[in-house]
Amino acid sequence: MEFVSNLRETLKASTESANRGGGTGDNSKGAYWCHDCAERIRDVDVEGENSPDCPDCGAAMEFERSPSSTGCAC
Ligand SMILES: [Zn+2]
Repeated sequence: MEFVSNLRETLKASTESANRGGGTGDNSKGAYWCHDCAERIRDVDVEGENSPDCPDCGAAMEFERSPSSTGCAC
């Protein structure tokens, strides 16, 4: 299972960078979370614009922006 997801990530990543022609190589703005299961799916791994369902419990996942651009807001 882990191998499959890693392979898909690699394929997606190479497709993304090929489309964008460089840059950071990662267009992720954040990730979708299921807080109940602690499941996380990066937005770049989600196809379409709708929030994905949690693969574990099937609940709608919540989008959370990556904090890397703003830094700590404490
Ligand atoms: Zn869940």
